[in-house]
Amino acid sequence: MENIERKSLLYKTGVEYGDYTINIAEGCSHGCKYPCYAMMMAKRFGKAKTYEEWCTPKLVSNALELLDKEIPKFKDKIQSVQLCFTTDPFMYNYPEITEMSLKCIKKLNENDIKCTALTKGILPKELATLSKDNEYGITLVSLNEDFRKEIEPGSAPYRERIEALRYLHNNGCKTWVSIEPYPTPNFIEQNLQDILDELSFVDKIIFGRLNYNAKVSQFKEHKKFFNEMAELVIQYCNKTKKQFHIKDGTITKED
Ligand code: SF4
Repeated sequence: MENIERKSLLYKTGVEYGDYTINIAEGCSHGCKYPCYAMMMAKRFGKAKTYEEWCTPKLVSNALELLDKEIPKFKDKIQSVQLCFTTDPFMYNYPEITEMSLKCIKKLNENDIKCTALTKGILPKELATLSKDNEYGITLVSLNEDFRKEIEPGSAPYRERIEALRYLHNNGCKTWVSIEPYPTPNFIEQNLQDILDELSFVDKIIFGRLNYNAKVSQFKEHKKFFNEMAELVIQYCNKTKKQFHIKDGTITKED
């Protein structure tokens, strides 16, 4: 795969549940069609001209050197580092990216910095040997493979994604799931409870609605729908004593 060099790596995110982050690639082969916010930004700032270009990732080859320079500068301010915000740290079928993410997490842990990772790829088993303060998550918005192929065409099959997460849970790691961006029934008819049951082993659930897609508002009762789904997640997490976070704007006042 193509390499690029960057001038800086670690930065503070402005998002609601993030602290510091690193992005070890530019572009993402998962090619989500929700659409992907990172791709929209990359297009706006001229980093990717087309969808195809976005789906051809470039590895940040000097990521480790940048961390060596930046960790001493930011160490006292960092609570945790998330991989990644504008790409995927364990991109499906990109071993170079997985290897780089593992090395970065290892380096951050060696400096007593906790990491969280979120992927639509496969979490590697080696993560179980790193700091047990780390938290590992997958994004999962459905259990229907036809829907996945349509909306996240380059991502890992759901079953493989879940089994990789389960392995880490079984080996003493903290795990979480991001059920976001959750689609309305005019995308797919499904039962959220089935997804919750499938992931009953995780420690934390993040839930959020689908945004930036005109088809959502074509579903007449979308506000009511998202309010009900968020309530289901809250009740489930209270009952099973799990941590949860409902993303801003998911619960709204109905018309
Ligand atoms: S996995 Fe994330 S970064 Fe990659 S295309 Fe999908 S939404 Fe965008």
